[in-house]
Amino acid sequence: MLKELELPIVDLPKETENLREEVRSFLSAELHNESFTTRSDSWLSGFSADFSRKLGERGWLGMTWPKKYGGHERTAFERFVVTEELLAAGAPVAAHWFADRQTGPLLLNYGTEYQRQTLLPRIVRGELFFAIGLSEPNSGSDLASISTRAKKSGNKWVINGSKIWSSGAHHAHYIVVLLRTATHGEKKHEGLSQMIVDLSAPGVTVRPIYLMTGEHHFNEVIFEDVEISEGMIVGEVGGGWKQSMAELAYERSGPERFLSTYPLLKELINQLSETSGQHANIKIGKLASRLWTLRCMSLGVAGLLEKGDSPNIAASLVKDLGTQFEKDVIDVARELIPSRPSMNAPTKFETLLAESILHAPGFTLRGGTTEILRSIIARGIGV
Ligand SMILES: Cc1cc2nc3c(=O)[nH]c(=O)nc-3n(C[C@H](O)[C@H](O)[C@H](O)COP(=O)(O)OP(=O)(O)OC[C@H]3O[C@@H](n4cnc5c(N)ncnc54)[C@H](O)[C@@H]3O)c2cc1C
Repeated sequence: MLKELELPIVDLPKETENLREEVRSFLSAELHNESFTTRSDSWLSGFSADFSRKLGERGWLGMTWPKKYGGHERTAFERFVVTEELLAAGAPVAAHWFADRQTGPLLLNYGTEYQRQTLLPRIVRGELFFAIGLSEPNSGSDLASISTRAKKSGNKWVINGSKIWSSGAHHAHYIVVLLRTATHGEKKHEGLSQMIVDLSAPGVTVRPIYLMTGEHHFNEVIFEDVEISEGMIVGEVGGGWKQSMAELAYERSGPERFLSTYPLLKELINQLSETSGQHANIKIGKLASRLWTLRCMSLGVAGLLEKGDSPNIAASLVKDLGTQFEKDVIDVARELIPSRPSMNAPTKFETLLAESILHAPGFTLRGGTTEILRSIIARGIGV
């Protein structure tokens, strides 16, 4: 067995069972009160600041972070349980998603005491939202080729350039930007830094890019002589590449990488319960066994993160297999139930199917494309 791909087998601790029930009863009350409707891919498109605040009130944001920054010092497994229940219900979690998943851990690892004290408690309360500023019009997979630049001017930095595909930047308060602070020599990964930019600062323009569904999700974010104080640099000047890469295990291994179409799978099973035959049973059975395997793998990565490891290769594997699974759910749904999917269709199955179909092209692109993940895995195991 290749050591790099070894994952611990995690049995969720007993105490997570009560927590799971708590989350389920909260979600069923919220659904009953119609505070949200179940959606596919809700971590990307289900934006609700109110809902995020409610999660904050219940202690379900910043769950693993230190109490001194407003966190709850719970385990990665407790966070896993809350996350998977929210995603399985298709709840609107997009508002706080990036801040809770990766900006918080980034600041805990590399941020200044001032940044932690001022930003983390507000993320925990579900009041402060972040976007991620990595991709640029000419740099996606080849991220180290970015050209957005910050130049030192007195005790400030001045940013010029642009980011693209910035999810939720039109709602977020801040964006964490990877940019160039020095010209690179032979290695283009050098001379990169991370800065926190206030999206309402003078010189920042956020322009919408519409999804195929017509929703406004993505943005282009343009920086024209945007001034940043030194206090908004995250970690070391020049350390941006290492820091950004450290975020990837958080970004690629969570349950959102295989549960984006779970609401559709659940609805498919509901629809089939009356009529299913052997063919349908086999198809659903295969999906269920893959789902269970992915869940075990994702929990294994959570186990390593809990111990302080950064299992990037295993996380890449979860994302590659998980996003393929999300797409296969759609194919099976289309095959087993004749339907006319549309965002305005009268049935829940058809609207979830339409939403899943229209979002699916992004599953294997966001957070690193399949080809890039497979290169990481291949290199990691010595190919
Ligand atoms: C839904 C969604 C949300 C996103 N949200 C954000 C966000 O919030 N913030 C952000 O910064 N970015 C975001 N992105 C952008 C995402 O990170 C990029 O789309 C992704 O990294 C790929 O970059 P690209 O689009 O420039 O494609 P390219 O890098 O141009 O790739 C095009 C194709 O070429 C292939 N390819 C490229 N290089 C290689 C190689 N070396 N070997 C083999 N094949 C290769 C790729 O796999 C892909 O199939 C989001 C994307 C999506 C779809």
